Amino acid sequence: MHAYTPIVETITGGIVLAFILGAAANRLRLPTTIGYLVAGIIVGPFTPGIVADQWVASQLAEIGVILLMFGVGLHFSVKDLLVVRHIAVPGALAQMGAATTLGTVLGLLYGWSFGAGVVYGLALAVASTVVLVRALQEHRLVETERGRIALGWLVVQDLVMVLALVFLPAMGGAGAEGAGEGSSGSLVATLARTLTEVVAFVAVMMLIGRRLIPWVLHYVAHTGSRELFRLAVLAVALGVAYGASKVFGISFALGAFFAGMIMHESPLSQRAAEESLPLRDAFAVLFFVSVGMLFDPGIVIRDPLQLAGTLFVILVCSPAIAFGVAILFGETMLTASTLAVSLSQIGEFSFILAGLGIALDILPAEGRDLILAGAIIAIFANPILFGAVERWGRSLVKVEPADADESAEPEAFAVTQLSDHAVLVGYGRVGRVVSEGLQRDAHPFLVIEERKEIAVELRKAGIEVLQGNAVSSDILNAANLVQARWMFVAIPDGFEAGQVVGQARKINESIPIVARAHSDAEVEHLMAHGATFTIMGEREIGLGMLEYAYGRRPQAARVTVDTPLVVNPVEVPR
Ligand code: AMP
Repeated sequence: MHAYTPIVETITGGIVLAFILGAAANRLRLPTTIGYLVAGIIVGPFTPGIVADQWVASQLAEIGVILLMFGVGLHFSVKDLLVVRHIAVPGALAQMGAATTLGTVLGLLYGWSFGAGVVYGLALAVASTVVLVRALQEHRLVETERGRIALGWLVVQDLVMVLALVFLPAMGGAGAEGAGEGSSGSLVATLARTLTEVVAFVAVMMLIGRRLIPWVLHYVAHTGSRELFRLAVLAVALGVAYGASKVFGISFALGAFFAGMIMHESPLSQRAAEESLPLRDAFAVLFFVSVGMLFDPGIVIRDPLQLAGTLFVILVCSPAIAFGVAILFGETMLTASTLAVSLSQIGEFSFILAGLGIALDILPAEGRDLILAGAIIAIFANPILFGAVERWGRSLVKVEPADADESAEPEAFAVTQLSDHAVLVGYGRVGRVVSEGLQRDAHPFLVIEERKEIAVELRKAGIEVLQGNAVSSDILNAANLVQARWMFVAIPDGFEAGQVVGQARKINESIPIVARAHSDAEVEHLMAHGATFTIMGEREIGLGMLEYAYGRRPQAARVTVDTPLVVNPVEVPR
């Protein structure tokens, strides 16, 4: 006899068990997501023992979806979205079209109705936001070219889903009437209404949200209350998502994404992102637990062939189309592969579709079980596949090519002609300052930068650039590190910077490497990997403040030079 567990028990049980199994997975060098899924299977209704409330868990998971998409929006600008539309729109439509068609054919082969096949196919065509965003975050790909394409693709899928969810009830009616003449008129009306709602939502966000949201946040920031600021961030994320769904019939995910994207334009966005982090992570974990709860292992024995068909659509058809489209659009093998694994899973939307299909009597219960089983197996496999692609990517000679449209330079990684030059990694807030100084003193230098648009900007300015992730030893070799005079590692992620420094040290034992850090732990990490000198941003800000007050560099500045923790014993040439 299963006991009923209310909200508190679901949250507590979910988080505690996810923590234990997540830690165990980590210990076994497996992705933590797998631990969370297993936690869900354990508290699910299909395994003996404790049973958490599925309905409660799925609602909590929704909050995870909102916060995750909000976080993604914060890193995304409308411009970023428009930049990738040339590939994301046709790509997503082609991939969804192919997966839905294949699903429909399979459905007919299983002996289902045409409508059931379409619902089944559509459910298999749409990737899970949470799974994709988590994978991109884990591999720090959100702000890369590849990440942007994958997210743009997801937004298109999301929009198609908005339409599908509205359409489905109309289609259910049409199917029942034998797809009569009258129903096609109502379908057109439904489509028009849905499109109007989406456009109205975007217009409201652009015209009102864009002014109101930053204003509210600025106002709250000025009150000086951290607690109020946190609340404001949450209120915006949840409020917009909920409002978008209630007023405009748009998914929570899309609403939250827009709220984040609007805030991206406000300078407070970074702080807002940090404020929503802890809650976002906790709820994302509950999402995976709630997915695990849906898994009925019995399906593997009951319908093995149908399950194989389901997995074929998810793991082969969609990724293959995504891969093909990316290659067709001139993307690299790595970008194409990342996109393929990004789309080799399904999740929340598929569950919603399946649920609606059952409620409308279009989809047989077996269809829903297959969708759930396919989703969970694919979500299990996803972190492993993603990890494999990333490992392969790192070992590739060509990480990211030169910008195909801007300069047709096939050997992006041809070794530079420069020697006795400086190698500058990262051309953001810090890298730009370093670059200005080097230019002023006419020191030759080149930049390693992973963002395509910055690489294009640099090339236009006549600055030599290698576009790609500086962690790759090939890119470092192309920078002629052996003959370089200095290396400046000006990227914000201390962990990644440590990897860059480590690789560089292997190539050139004696080159002075100056690296950027934000904490004592990062300083230690960078020095352990062979940095010569480390600048901790926050300390320099403090010293700069004192310098202003005293009119001279304060004594404390020396600490940086005297402490062995901070400087490796390599002469820094002046
Ligand atoms: P900021 O934090 O404003 O100084 O910006 C850092 C810059 O470094 C951004 O333009 C990033 O695209 C770039 N960046 C971050 N990580 C890497 C990396 N591993 N390789 C190359 N560029 C990077």
